[in-house]
Amino acid sequence: MSDDDQELGITESKSHNTGEWYAEVVRKAGLADYGPDGMSGFIVTRPRAYAVWERLQGFLDAKFKDTGVQNAYFPLFIPESYLEREKDIVEGFDPEVAWVTEAGNKELEERLAVRPTSESIITPYISQWVRSHRDLPLRVNQWCSVVRWEATETKPFFRTKEFLWQEGHTAHATSEGAWDETLTRLDQYESVYEDLLAIPVLKGQKPDHDKFPGADTTTTVEALMPDGKSVQAGTSHHLGQSFAEAFDITFSDEDEAERLAHTTSWGLSWRALGALIMTHSDEQGLVLPPGVAPEQVVVVPIWQEETKEDVLEYAEGVADDLDEAGVRVELDDRDERNPGFKFNEHELNGIPLRIEIGPHEVEDGELTLVHRPDGESVVEDREAVAETVRDHLDEVYAKLYASAEATLDGEVREADDRAEILGTLGQHGGYVKTPWCGDEACEEPIKEPMAAEIVMVPFEDEDPLVDGDGDETCAICGEDAERTAYFAKSY
Ligand code: AMP
Repeated sequence: MSDDDQELGITESKSHNTGEWYAEVVRKAGLADYGPDGMSGFIVTRPRAYAVWERLQGFLDAKFKDTGVQNAYFPLFIPESYLEREKDIVEGFDPEVAWVTEAGNKELEERLAVRPTSESIITPYISQWVRSHRDLPLRVNQWCSVVRWEATETKPFFRTKEFLWQEGHTAHATSEGAWDETLTRLDQYESVYEDLLAIPVLKGQKPDHDKFPGADTTTTVEALMPDGKSVQAGTSHHLGQSFAEAFDITFSDEDEAERLAHTTSWGLSWRALGALIMTHSDEQGLVLPPGVAPEQVVVVPIWQEETKEDVLEYAEGVADDLDEAGVRVELDDRDERNPGFKFNEHELNGIPLRIEIGPHEVEDGELTLVHRPDGESVVEDREAVAETVRDHLDEVYAKLYASAEATLDGEVREADDRAEILGTLGQHGGYVKTPWCGDEACEEPIKEPMAAEIVMVPFEDEDPLVDGDGDETCAICGEDAERTAYFAKSY
């Protein structure tokens, strides 16, 4: 093996050393670097990863705009006095807030928080913009970064101290309006994961003790990683009236009465990239679904000196046709690299489909297509190449989704008592579904020895225990069970 080959190869095992393997894929596929010394928990996002983020952003942003959301931008800093107006948010984020106390060589009169989330600076402006029921619903979103000085271990994309995200903030005349909004955004997050990233998710709500600070209800999409841990993949909060009250969003209703609005907020971060890399990639490197791949297809011509001209001409024609049809295609006609090296490199970089073209293909008017996820190789006619390629890209997406779905389906297990919950989580990971009384204290006997917690509770109308006959008892304390809890270890 040459030095170059070694540099390309992934050496860690995905199943045995998931953490090290993940770090190696992130580095070798050119996705991110660690931040400067003294800034642990920060990352530099390299162009390949940023290109994936831009695709995700485009997909979600289009959905937002189709459903009444406008983009805006608010300051990076939040005056301390603003932050203090909603007490839950202060308490909830206090340990994670970075403060600016000095600027322009002068001490500031008031400390400024680097936004950990922007309710406290956006809501006061929404309050100024809303006068009457005709101004509602009001919806703004911003694409930005936020800073949370995370105490737990950081990991590129999954948990960083500064992260890119979008945060949407809305105000509504009624609680039902706010609840519909909360679910609309959660469905859009589900679609990002399922339709774009080929990752099935579970949808539900957080237990009350794990809600967003100040929220009435926090809803969540959870994705299962191959090492059996759950990822909180996006959250949408029904904030009730606490923020409207703290920041005074009142409006005159149709009957002229002054009423308090109901608000929501919802955020999806680059953690989605972490989930994407972790779910589909393998020991050859990155695997990307076609919808987010910066290059969807690479054409690799394979020639000897005497066939070079014909093969290159044919390959260029194929690449041109694909480009014209709007397929993101790269022609790898580098002279200095052999085909084997090129294959490895494009596999490492996660290009979903490779087209190999040698003298045989030219002679027969054909193409050899190789799927990145499983190496399946298929010979197709050169004619109608764009259509053929689109079908194969759809197949690649379908393979990725099916494989992630099979993993998820097999990783939801039931348990009825503490020993069984602990045993199942310890042996298999994944989700353990269990009847629960609703008391936070009953999470502790699992959380303490196992570092697993209740990551999700199905929505009321999907949880048979909500109006149950009282026969089911809490797996921990034996009192009446009110909800089904999904325990899992999480990222
Ligand atoms: P929140 O405002 O706390 O509901 O966060 C919104 C979403 O951002 C969460 O559901 C996570 O998926 C993601 N997120 C939270 N903290 C981090 C972090 N430190 N790094 C990356 N993503 C994060």
